Amino acid sequence: MVLYSAGRTTSYPVDPPPVGLRFHYLGGGDEVGNVGVVIEDADGTRLLLDYGLAPTSPPRYPIEAPPVQDAVMTHSHVDHIGMAPWLCANHRTRLHGTALTASLSEMMWRDCYKISSIEKYPLAWDKRDIDTALDSWYHHDFGQSWKHHNWELTFHRAGHIPGAAMLHVQTPEKSILLTGDFDTRDSSLVEGAKPVLADILFIEGTYGGRYHPDKMEETERFLEAVDRVVRRGGTVLIPAFANGRTQDVVMILHKHRPHLNVHVDGMGKRVAKNHLSHPSFLKDASGLERAWRWAKKVSSKSDKKKALSADVIVSTSGMLEGGPALWYLNRLRHDRKNAVFFTGYQAEGTGGRELLETSHLNIYRERVYVPLETEQFSFSTHAGQKEILEFAKACQAKHVIVYHADAQTARPPLLAALQEQGHTVHEPQNGKSYIIQD
Ligand SMILES: [Zn+2]
Ligand SMILES: [Zn+2]
Repeated sequence: MVLYSAGRTTSYPVDPPPVGLRFHYLGGGDEVGNVGVVIEDADGTRLLLDYGLAPTSPPRYPIEAPPVQDAVMTHSHVDHIGMAPWLCANHRTRLHGTALTASLSEMMWRDCYKISSIEKYPLAWDKRDIDTALDSWYHHDFGQSWKHHNWELTFHRAGHIPGAAMLHVQTPEKSILLTGDFDTRDSSLVEGAKPVLADILFIEGTYGGRYHPDKMEETERFLEAVDRVVRRGGTVLIPAFANGRTQDVVMILHKHRPHLNVHVDGMGKRVAKNHLSHPSFLKDASGLERAWRWAKKVSSKSDKKKALSADVIVSTSGMLEGGPALWYLNRLRHDRKNAVFFTGYQAEGTGGRELLETSHLNIYRERVYVPLETEQFSFSTHAGQKEILEFAKACQAKHVIVYHADAQTARPPLLAALQEQGHTVHEPQNGKSYIIQD
């Protein structure tokens, strides 16, 4: 099914702005995920940053992109790259990203296609478009600038996940920084982002208004909870996202609890292989390698059965929306010694949220009772309120555009605090054009 036919439905204006810099969100302007933003100057130099979809059920899609020669993909999460195959197939757009983002994109697109087919969700691109997109990549390293007409573009580390980049744009008039998803705090996998001087800062506000718990304390709370379940003879199931979280959790367990019997299943195994073949994007490549060798990788039906008696199982999907995690849960739920520990936010309408709120869950289309201990831990790799404010200040940004944030809950407290810090703050809506002149 085709959601939009090229050139018919876009909200983007035909002509360049008369003066200054125009920005226009196709998605992600006033919501989390689903990101696509076009920036353009009076000379008609234009760039699209990210083009994703929100993997909710059903998914949310951005507004149709106008023709763009070049698009920058900040990182390989599907809410940032999910619609790129449509761009490449319809506009022959070139994709710019780090080598690791490009390498991970194939797996993410194929998985996205598979889920859409199974769930019968419409998707604007098909399998052949993945191949076109894979041929459209141009790789750039951190700190190495390239020319885009009369703009100079440079990637900087974004933290968040391996390969994630912030984009710095130097136009003849302005210095602009777009963060993508970012975190200034280190994780097991990556170093945190460092500020870059900019007149105009586009910043993600997923965790606006929220303060992260201290990382060491949260890790300790998590490890103690794991110990408690293992002591009573139970197995901890940790549903985890494939791209970033799975590897992070395995590294934490390996570092602090090397005596535990930890099994890993799901797409996170292939992601880790990709990470290990791009060691320069990791904070501690040999640490990941050791942790990965230590964890038992599930690769067959008999491995799966063996894993049921493990201390810990780390498996996709992170929100209990399919994946091997459901297979494990369906068996583990009969013994109350077992537990389910979440390490990330559980979105409205997902299996994870349902389990936390009702102790029930749909497994293979049947609603079942899961009387297990559940617990939530915060291992977020997005900057929180404190980190966002410090970052904007250190960038010395005159203008700050807050996007990738819930417009009702996360954005208002962040806007107020940024204003107090002296920035001119913008709260974009999808489908509208804004011009910054000064
Ligand atoms: Zn995102
Ligand atoms: Zn992300």
